[in-house]
Amino acid sequence: MTRRMMIAGNWKMNGLEASLDFFSHNDLTRDLPGMDRVICPPATLLRAAHHAASRCGIDVGGQDCHGQESGAHTGDISAEMVADCGARYVIVGHSERRANHAESSAMVKDKAQAALRAGLTPILCVGETQGERESGQAESVVGRQLADSWPQDAADTDLVIAYEPVWAIGTGLTASLDDIAAMHGFIRAQRPGGADLRILYGGSVKPGNAADILSLSDVDGALIGGASLTAESFAAIVDSAPD
Ligand code: PEP
Repeated sequence: MTRRMMIAGNWKMNGLEASLDFFSHNDLTRDLPGMDRVICPPATLLRAAHHAASRCGIDVGGQDCHGQESGAHTGDISAEMVADCGARYVIVGHSERRANHAESSAMVKDKAQAALRAGLTPILCVGETQGERESGQAESVVGRQLADSWPQDAADTDLVIAYEPVWAIGTGLTASLDDIAAMHGFIRAQRPGGADLRILYGGSVKPGNAADILSLSDVDGALIGGASLTAESFAAIVDSAPD
Protein backbone atom coordinates (compact mmCIF):
# COMPACT_ATOMS: atom_id res chain seq x y z
CA MET A 1 0.00 0.00 0.00
CA THR A 2 1.35 3.45 -0.87
CA ARG A 3 1.19 6.02 1.87
CA ARG A 4 -0.32 9.34 0.75
CA MET A 5 1.68 12.46 1.50
CA MET A 6 -0.01 14.88 3.90
CA ILE A 7 0.84 18.52 4.47
CA ALA A 8 -1.07 19.82 7.48
CA GLY A 9 -1.07 23.34 8.90
CA ASN A 10 -1.77 24.10 12.57
CA TRP A 11 -2.81 27.72 12.95
CA LYS A 12 -2.85 27.43 16.76
CA MET A 13 -4.46 30.51 18.41
CA ASN A 14 -4.16 32.62 15.27
CA GLY A 15 -6.81 33.68 12.80
CA LEU A 16 -9.90 35.85 12.50
CA GLU A 17 -12.54 35.75 9.78
CA ALA A 18 -10.34 37.83 7.47
CA SER A 19 -7.72 35.07 7.62
CA LEU A 20 -9.96 32.93 5.42
CA ASP A 21 -8.55 34.90 2.45
CA PHE A 22 -5.83 32.27 2.75
CA PHE A 23 -8.02 29.88 0.76
CA SER A 24 -8.46 32.29 -2.16
CA HIS A 25 -4.75 32.43 -2.90
CA ASN A 26 -3.88 31.35 -6.47
CA ASP A 27 -1.12 29.02 -5.27
CA LEU A 28 -3.64 26.91 -3.37
CA THR A 29 -6.40 26.59 -5.91
CA ARG A 30 -4.61 23.94 -8.00
CA ASP A 31 -6.03 20.44 -7.79
CA LEU A 32 -3.50 18.07 -6.15
CA PRO A 33 -5.20 14.67 -6.13
CA GLY A 34 -2.05 12.82 -5.03
CA MET A 35 -1.77 14.35 -1.57
CA ASP A 36 -3.81 15.47 1.41
CA ARG A 37 -3.64 19.13 2.36
CA VAL A 38 -5.16 20.01 5.70
CA ILE A 39 -5.55 23.25 7.64
CA CYS A 40 -6.39 23.17 11.34
CA PRO A 41 -7.72 26.64 12.17
CA PRO A 42 -8.96 27.72 15.60
CA ALA A 43 -12.35 26.22 16.46
CA THR A 44 -14.08 29.57 15.89
CA LEU A 45 -13.21 29.36 12.18
CA LEU A 46 -13.67 25.66 11.59
CA ARG A 47 -17.02 25.67 9.80
CA ALA A 48 -16.26 28.76 7.69
CA ALA A 49 -12.79 27.41 6.89
CA HIS A 50 -14.35 24.12 5.79
CA HIS A 51 -16.55 25.95 3.27
CA ALA A 52 -13.67 28.07 1.96
CA ALA A 53 -11.15 25.21 1.93
CA SER A 54 -13.38 22.71 0.16
CA ARG A 55 -13.39 24.95 -2.92
CA CYS A 56 -9.67 24.29 -3.36
CA GLY A 57 -9.65 20.64 -2.31
CA ILE A 58 -8.20 21.32 1.14
CA ASP A 59 -9.55 19.52 4.22
CA VAL A 60 -9.86 21.06 7.64
CA GLY A 61 -9.15 19.65 11.08
CA GLY A 62 -9.65 20.62 14.69
CA GLN A 63 -6.72 21.37 16.98
CA ASP A 64 -8.10 19.37 19.89
CA CYS A 65 -11.24 17.60 21.09
CA HIS A 66 -12.64 16.34 24.38
CA GLY A 67 -12.66 12.62 25.11
CA GLN A 68 -16.40 12.55 25.81
CA GLU A 69 -19.30 13.07 23.44
CA SER A 70 -21.14 15.71 25.49
CA GLY A 71 -21.58 16.90 29.06
CA ALA A 72 -20.60 19.47 31.66
CA HIS A 73 -17.22 20.50 30.24
CA THR A 74 -17.35 24.28 29.92
CA GLY A 75 -15.24 25.57 27.07
CA ASP A 76 -14.45 22.15 25.63
CA ILE A 77 -15.39 20.86 22.20
CA SER A 78 -16.30 17.25 21.44
CA ALA A 79 -15.05 15.30 18.45
CA GLU A 80 -18.65 15.15 17.22
CA MET A 81 -18.77 18.97 17.22
CA VAL A 82 -15.52 19.14 15.28
CA ALA A 83 -16.91 16.65 12.73
CA ASP A 84 -20.20 18.58 12.60
CA CYS A 85 -18.24 21.61 11.34
CA GLY A 86 -17.06 19.63 8.32
CA ALA A 87 -13.66 18.60 9.65
CA ARG A 88 -12.07 15.29 8.63
CA TYR A 89 -9.16 15.41 11.06
CA VAL A 90 -8.32 16.49 14.58
CA ILE A 91 -4.93 17.01 16.20
CA VAL A 92 -4.63 15.27 19.57
CA GLY A 93 -1.75 15.31 22.03
CA HIS A 94 0.05 18.35 20.63
CA SER A 95 2.95 19.12 22.96
CA GLU A 96 1.46 22.54 23.74
CA ARG A 97 -1.68 20.78 25.02
CA ARG A 98 0.37 18.16 26.87
CA ALA A 99 2.45 20.92 28.54
CA ASN A 100 -0.03 23.80 28.98
CA HIS A 101 -3.09 21.72 29.84
CA ALA A 102 -1.36 18.83 31.61
CA GLU A 103 -2.70 16.30 29.11
CA SER A 104 -1.43 12.81 29.87
CA SER A 105 -1.12 10.09 27.26
CA ALA A 106 -4.20 8.43 28.83
CA MET A 107 -6.20 11.59 28.09
CA VAL A 108 -4.76 11.75 24.59
CA LYS A 109 -5.85 8.14 24.05
CA ASP A 110 -9.43 9.06 25.10
CA LYS A 111 -9.37 11.99 22.66
CA ALA A 112 -8.07 9.82 19.82
CA GLN A 113 -10.78 7.24 20.54
CA ALA A 114 -13.39 10.00 20.58
CA ALA A 115 -12.11 11.24 17.24
CA LEU A 116 -12.44 7.79 15.67
CA ARG A 117 -15.92 7.37 17.16
CA ALA A 118 -16.92 10.65 15.47
CA GLY A 119 -15.51 9.57 12.12
CA LEU A 120 -12.45 11.82 12.30
CA THR A 121 -8.86 10.83 11.64
CA PRO A 122 -6.73 11.75 14.65
CA ILE A 123 -3.34 13.35 13.99
CA LEU A 124 -1.65 12.09 17.14
CA CYS A 125 1.45 14.03 18.21
CA VAL A 126 4.43 12.57 20.01
CA GLY A 127 7.86 14.02 20.70
CA GLU A 128 10.63 14.36 23.25
CA THR A 129 11.90 17.46 25.06
CA GLN A 130 15.45 18.72 24.60
CA GLY A 131 16.46 17.31 28.00
CA GLU A 132 15.07 13.91 27.12
CA ARG A 133 16.98 13.88 23.82
CA GLU A 134 20.22 15.02 25.45
CA SER A 135 19.96 12.30 28.05
CA GLY A 136 19.45 9.62 25.40
CA GLN A 137 15.79 9.01 26.21
CA ALA A 138 14.19 10.25 22.97
CA GLU A 139 13.18 6.83 21.70
CA SER A 140 11.96 5.52 25.03
CA VAL A 141 9.84 8.66 25.61
CA VAL A 142 8.33 8.58 22.12
CA GLY A 143 7.78 4.81 22.29
CA ARG A 144 5.92 5.19 25.59
CA GLN A 145 3.80 8.10 24.33
CA LEU A 146 2.90 6.08 21.27
CA ALA A 147 1.92 2.97 23.24
CA ASP A 148 0.00 4.86 25.92
CA SER A 149 -1.84 7.22 23.52
CA TRP A 150 -2.76 4.68 20.84
CA PRO A 151 -6.56 4.28 20.67
CA GLN A 152 -7.96 0.86 21.57
CA ASP A 153 -8.19 -1.54 18.62
CA ALA A 154 -7.20 1.14 16.09
CA ALA A 155 -5.46 -0.05 12.95
CA ASP A 156 -2.33 1.64 11.65
CA THR A 157 -4.32 3.16 8.79
CA ASP A 158 -6.90 4.71 11.16
CA LEU A 159 -4.70 7.55 12.33
CA VAL A 160 -1.75 9.72 11.44
CA ILE A 161 1.24 10.17 13.74
CA ALA A 162 3.10 13.48 13.93
CA TYR A 163 6.60 13.23 15.34
CA GLU A 164 7.33 16.68 16.74
CA PRO A 165 10.40 17.12 18.91
CA VAL A 166 9.23 19.65 21.51
CA TRP A 167 12.46 21.66 21.27
CA ALA A 168 11.96 22.17 17.52
CA ILE A 169 8.44 23.61 17.73
CA GLY A 170 8.33 27.33 17.06
CA THR A 171 12.04 27.70 17.80
CA GLY A 172 13.53 27.73 14.30
CA LEU A 173 15.53 24.61 15.27
CA THR A 174 14.89 21.45 13.29
CA ALA A 175 16.03 17.95 14.06
CA SER A 176 18.83 16.72 11.79
CA LEU A 177 17.79 14.62 8.80
CA ASP A 178 19.52 11.62 10.38
CA ASP A 179 17.61 12.06 13.64
CA ILE A 180 14.29 12.49 11.80
CA ALA A 181 14.93 9.38 9.70
CA ALA A 182 15.94 7.37 12.76
CA MET A 183 12.90 8.39 14.81
CA HIS A 184 10.44 7.80 11.97
CA GLY A 185 11.97 4.36 11.42
CA PHE A 186 11.73 3.68 15.15
CA ILE A 187 8.04 4.72 15.27
CA ARG A 188 7.22 2.56 12.25
CA ALA A 189 8.94 -0.42 13.85
CA GLN A 190 6.77 -0.10 17.00
CA ARG A 191 3.58 -0.92 15.12
CA PRO A 192 2.49 -4.27 13.64
CA GLY A 193 1.17 -2.54 10.51
CA GLY A 194 3.87 0.11 10.59
CA ALA A 195 4.50 -0.09 6.86
CA ASP A 196 1.06 1.49 6.31
CA LEU A 197 1.29 4.09 9.09
CA ARG A 198 1.52 7.70 7.97
CA ILE A 199 4.13 9.60 9.99
CA LEU A 200 4.49 13.37 9.65
CA TYR A 201 7.42 15.42 10.90
CA GLY A 202 6.77 18.70 12.69
CA GLY A 203 9.08 21.32 14.14
CA SER A 204 10.05 24.52 12.32
CA VAL A 205 9.35 23.13 8.85
CA LYS A 206 9.54 25.96 6.33
CA PRO A 207 9.93 26.39 2.57
CA GLY A 208 13.74 26.35 2.89
CA ASN A 209 14.03 22.96 4.63
CA ALA A 210 10.86 21.14 3.58
CA ALA A 211 12.20 19.45 0.44
CA ASP A 212 15.04 17.70 2.30
CA ILE A 213 12.77 16.57 5.14
CA LEU A 214 9.95 15.40 2.87
CA SER A 215 12.34 13.41 0.69
CA LEU A 216 13.19 11.04 3.58
CA SER A 217 11.61 7.68 2.87
CA ASP A 218 9.86 7.28 6.23
CA VAL A 219 8.51 10.85 6.25
CA ASP A 220 4.97 10.97 4.87
CA GLY A 221 4.41 14.67 5.26
CA ALA A 222 4.65 17.55 7.68
CA LEU A 223 2.70 19.26 10.44
CA ILE A 224 3.47 22.95 10.18
CA GLY A 225 2.81 25.74 12.64
CA GLY A 226 4.21 29.19 11.87
CA ALA A 227 4.87 28.57 8.17
CA SER A 228 1.24 27.54 7.60
CA LEU A 229 -0.08 30.98 8.44
CA THR A 230 0.48 32.42 4.99
CA ALA A 231 -0.77 30.79 1.82
CA GLU A 232 2.57 31.54 0.11
CA SER A 233 4.71 29.58 2.55
CA PHE A 234 2.16 26.76 2.97
CA ALA A 235 1.95 26.41 -0.82
CA ALA A 236 5.74 26.47 -1.15
CA ILE A 237 6.00 23.57 1.31
CA VAL A 238 3.28 21.68 -0.57
CA ASP A 239 5.22 22.25 -3.81
CA SER A 240 8.42 20.89 -2.32
CA ALA A 241 6.83 17.50 -1.52
CA PRO A 242 7.94 14.67 -3.81
CA ASP A 243 5.34 13.50 -6.36
C1 PEP B 1 3.41 22.75 15.49
O1 PEP B 1 2.88 23.56 16.23
O2 PEP B 1 2.92 21.63 15.37
C2 PEP B 1 4.64 23.13 14.80
C3 PEP B 1 5.31 22.21 14.20
O3 PEP B 1 4.98 24.47 14.86
P1 PEP B 1 6.19 25.18 14.03
O4 PEP B 1 6.13 24.69 12.62
O5 PEP B 1 5.91 26.64 14.15
O6 PEP B 1 7.46 24.76 14.70
